[in-house]
Amino acid sequence: MAPKSDLSPFTITLLLLLIILFPFLSNATANEAHGKISSPVAFLQHLTGCRKGDNVKGINDLKKYLQKFGYLNYNNHIHYDDNDFDELLEEAVKTYQLNFHLKFTGTLDERTIIKMIMPRCGMPDIINGTTSMRAAKIQHQHPELHTAVHYTLPDGNYKWPPSKYHLTYGFLPGCPAGAMAPISQAFAIWGKSTHFKFSHNTKSAQNADLKISFHKRDHGDGDAFDGPGGQLAHAAYPTVGTLHYDAEETWSAGAKAGAVDYGSVGLHEIGHLLGLGHSSVEGAVMFPTVTEGVAYKNLHQDDIQGIKALYKV
Ligand SMILES: [Zn+2]
Ligand SMILES: [Zn+2]
Repeated sequence: MAPKSDLSPFTITLLLLLIILFPFLSNATANEAHGKISSPVAFLQHLTGCRKGDNVKGINDLKKYLQKFGYLNYNNHIHYDDNDFDELLEEAVKTYQLNFHLKFTGTLDERTIIKMIMPRCGMPDIINGTTSMRAAKIQHQHPELHTAVHYTLPDGNYKWPPSKYHLTYGFLPGCPAGAMAPISQAFAIWGKSTHFKFSHNTKSAQNADLKISFHKRDHGDGDAFDGPGGQLAHAAYPTVGTLHYDAEETWSAGAKAGAVDYGSVGLHEIGHLLGLGHSSVEGAVMFPTVTEGVAYKNLHQDDIQGIKALYKV
């Protein structure tokens, strides 16, 4: 064991080196804090340019990302947790690119990475590999089929019965005070454009048909939030009626730079509460990503058509 004596020449050299390097080291830390390096999807930034055949640290996280959103189904496959960019992964990246209107290459180009890093809904785009945003791929492979690329309805066509076309909503304890007005406004927008009517149950949120609450990380429904960035919210299909917001995001009431609008995310999640899946129409409220600093005020025709098709109204 080293004696507890004065500083050895080695220690002094080390200290000097640290003093010289300090400005660089602290600068690196500042950059990390400034950029979204700590975001749950930060690993994607290192994967730019990756393609089939590559083996790069972080590809295992990409597999988990694409599996979560329905693009991959490794089913406990041996390659689920490794960094091999295999054929299955290339196929998943291609499907993702089609859904998000990107160049169909299977390579993780910059635009694909930028899309994946965008804040988004935590619900999958493809469910059981058979539904949702799959039309884009069929259309690409078989243009003769003229597959419509639009809203999607999850398998099972979950919907509210006619006796529940007037739904009540409530805010469970813990919701930020500033969230209520923009989310109520989002319900009003759906009420204006569909056959649904919504009213705020201010007396008993527990007894409301639709319950809004804010949570951090693991919150008991098997679908943990991921901290700032990444997933913003998720909601259950009819007739469950739960809408969860990730409490760790930077939220705003209305459009504000660097923040996500409560109302815009509410507008999207209400679509799930009513039975819609994700749409591949960019500009539709049911498109999976949300742009920071923007507030949606209206539904897209595609969202309204989705509700009409589901409820046959
Ligand atoms: Zn969604
Ligand atoms: Zn949840």
